[in-house]
Amino acid sequence: MRGTVPYGVVLWLGDGGLDWTCSCPVGEAGDFCKHCVALACAVAEREPPDARTPRTRATEAASRRSTSGST
Ligand SMILES: [Zn+2]
Repeated sequence: MRGTVPYGVVLWLGDGGLDWTCSCPVGEAGDFCKHCVALACAVAEREPPDARTPRTRATEAASRRSTSGST
């Protein structure tokens, strides 16, 4: 393995939001397979504006939880 996936995986934004296709069995079944996840992560790292918003919120929620749970 050299970091490339052996399947043809494509992500794009359709009318209903994020859509994807992958030639692996999981992707062909309509599920968001690991290849799509890997590609989505790679795309998110390249496009910080939208990708960082949910991460920041998740971090805030996590810190609030740890604060309230310390009692
Ligand atoms: Zn796949």
